[in-house]
Formats: sequence, structure tokens, C-alpha cells
Amino acid sequence: MADLNHYIPRCRICGPLHAPCHIETAMQICAAHRISHPNHRPQWVPIKSQKDNSKEQTK
Ligand SMILES: [Zn+2]
Repeated sequence: MADLNHYIPRCRICGPLHAPCHIETAMQICAAHRISHPNHRPQWVPIKSQKDNSKEQTK
């Protein structure tokens, strides 16, 4: 339903870049961060999936 409003733009180096927002806003923030920090790899993460994605961090 309102899933599009629950994405967090996040950088592996800087951490969360912004509060939860619309996916398009998150994409824009990530794009801007990638320009200002070419070596960083920001990505937008859906909040509901964070618990599932946390499995990747275990190993
Ligand atoms: Zn960063």
C-alpha cells in the first residue's frame, strides 16, 4: 500500500543518509551522494525488508 513511502537511502560508509521517505526521493538522495562521494555506494533499502536483509550481515 504505502510501501513506496518507506525507503531509507543508506550508505555503507556513512550509514543512513535520510529519514524514511518515498523511493524516488531516496533514489535522488543516493544519486546525489554518489556524485559528492564517488567512492561510496549508497542504496535505498525498503524498511520492511531490513530484517530479512540483515541475514547477509551475519557472515
Ligand atoms: Zn557515504
